[in-house]
Amino acid sequence: MLTAFLFLAALASAQAEKCAVCGEDIMGDTVYTFTDQVSKEKKHLCYDCSLLPDRCFVCGMPAKKGFVTLPDGRVICDRDAKNSVLDPEEAKRICGEVSDELDRLFSRFTAFPTNVDVAVVDRVNLLALFKIPGNDSECPDVQGYFRPHTNHNMVRYKVSLMSALPRSDLKATCAHELAHAWVAENVPADRREDLRGDAEEGFCELVAYLVMDAENDEGEKKTILHNDYTRGQIDLFIAAEKAHGLNDVLDWMKWGTASELDPDEPNRIRDVEIPREQSVPAVSPRAYIAAPTSVPDTLVLKGISGTKGHALVLINDQTLAVGESAKVRVGKTNVLVRCLEIRDDSARVQIVDSREERVLLFKKPKE
Ligand SMILES: [Zn+2]
Ligand SMILES: [Zn+2]
Ligand SMILES: [Zn+2]
Repeated sequence: MLTAFLFLAALASAQAEKCAVCGEDIMGDTVYTFTDQVSKEKKHLCYDCSLLPDRCFVCGMPAKKGFVTLPDGRVICDRDAKNSVLDPEEAKRICGEVSDELDRLFSRFTAFPTNVDVAVVDRVNLLALFKIPGNDSECPDVQGYFRPHTNHNMVRYKVSLMSALPRSDLKATCAHELAHAWVAENVPADRREDLRGDAEEGFCELVAYLVMDAENDEGEKKTILHNDYTRGQIDLFIAAEKAHGLNDVLDWMKWGTASELDPDEPNRIRDVEIPREQSVPAVSPRAYIAAPTSVPDTLVLKGISGTKGHALVLINDQTLAVGESAKVRVGKTNVLVRCLEIRDDSARVQIVDSREERVLLFKKPKE
């Protein structure tokens, strides 16, 4: 993304031009043109500066003096270092502010998950996260990384942010990764399987874009629009939000019938299949149902009911048949659970996010 474009151009005028890096007169009849990826300006450099080995990872320009070298080898020019968040603790604090801002902006429509852990990692470690087998389908944003994990039946979301990002990029990246957490928490498993990766990325970019819009950060909005890794989905999400409002966008994410937004049929965002509330089945005589208690903080098989072939299990607050999945309340969070098998006194389930399988034993309530 931060490739510098090098052009050779003959100097037409005899007037000496100053090098944008060292400030000296450019000697000879050749100038070297680099595009500053922050200001998007083309800048003229002298021969010596065009050969400097260090390039700023933010703007792509050669760095000569006053630059900062990070432990992972990245270099930031002095201008961009002033706008970058070099202290990891400050980066985490800013991410917390972004989370608060999401709540403020979107509380009319939805809530963003709070079971999120934020880590600040250097580029070497961030890239290593993408190389773990099976991780390649996760967020391809090179400045941040998102992954759900299950610990003692509790789902938590881990957001990793690249260290030393410019403040605006940091905020946008944080909003983007928190939007992935929203998707993981709110979009049903079968819908997530249908949803194209570009559409999920487009939605996350929309959330980042709306945060930057609320902050009047026109520069970062432009950066989001220029970024082409959603292959056009971001523009369609922005148009859909303008035309229909965020509520329709959220409904489409959860229950839409198309796998991505279609530029030729923008109104298909309104094609959604909202499931009817699952009715609680009548309890058959052979049912064992434990007395209702407060929500347990692990997965508990509280009852088995129905007939053989049409058996149902009650796990915490949810009733499931074989093959069904639902969000089960565990303590203060939700765990997406799929029921794989129901036996006489146990059920085999899968924790969808971690794909971990486990057998839950039914303990008859004490008489
Ligand atoms: Zn120079
Ligand atoms: Zn720079
Ligand atoms: Zn992403």
